[in-house]
Amino acid sequence: MDDRKTLIAAAQKMAALGLAQGTSGNLSLRTADGILITPSAVPYDTLMPEMIPLLLTGGDYGAYRGRYRPSSEWRFHLDILAARPELGAVVHHHAPYTTALSMARKEIPACHYMIARFGGAPVRCAPYALFGTAELSANVLAALEGRTACLMANHGGLAVGKDVESALAAANELEALAEQYVLSLAAGGPVLLSDAEVQAALEQFGAVYGPNVPKQEEG
Ligand code: 13P
Ligand code: ZN
Repeated sequence: MDDRKTLIAAAQKMAALGLAQGTSGNLSLRTADGILITPSAVPYDTLMPEMIPLLLTGGDYGAYRGRYRPSSEWRFHLDILAARPELGAVVHHHAPYTTALSMARKEIPACHYMIARFGGAPVRCAPYALFGTAELSANVLAALEGRTACLMANHGGLAVGKDVESALAAANELEALAEQYVLSLAAGGPVLLSDAEVQAALEQFGAVYGPNVPKQEEG
């Protein structure tokens, strides 16, 4: 049940961060047995471990174990985790600024060095497709190529990570970057970084911006 509790904690944190309204958004987490995913249309504050469905991999596409039906977006959760073995979790939300940009069908350009946090510029906006469809999943998968986040036209956005905490952190930073970009548009429009500047930021993240592990005591 621990993985289920971890997923619920992340879902409730997403709501507390103001990234979800009502039952919008969904989260998934890869485990040894399959993919745990939030149930469809269940308020985050009522989630209990036994309510979390398990999407089964390796059998019939879409098969699951559990009493509650999985998120209507189970396709893109399953397809992303199948296509990207290095990833362990997917977080989708309708956060205000992310969604505002998605409604304008705008990608996020190289307006801030933090774009490198998502793998480079731009953070793309997947073309519109009806929620819950295979078409939406295909669009999202293509928009995510080489990135750890994307927007979804007239819908919201999503972010991925090695575990659900890092996917949620990325989803929260996506919303922060979207807000900053929208504000910069109101301030006259951002001056964009060059490809070389984005590349340098990518290298700087790799070289000096890893986890801050304390040094051993000397002596
Ligand atoms: P679910 O409640 O089915 O996860 O749907 C919410 C959502 O955001 C659909 O895109
Ligand atoms: Zn949605």
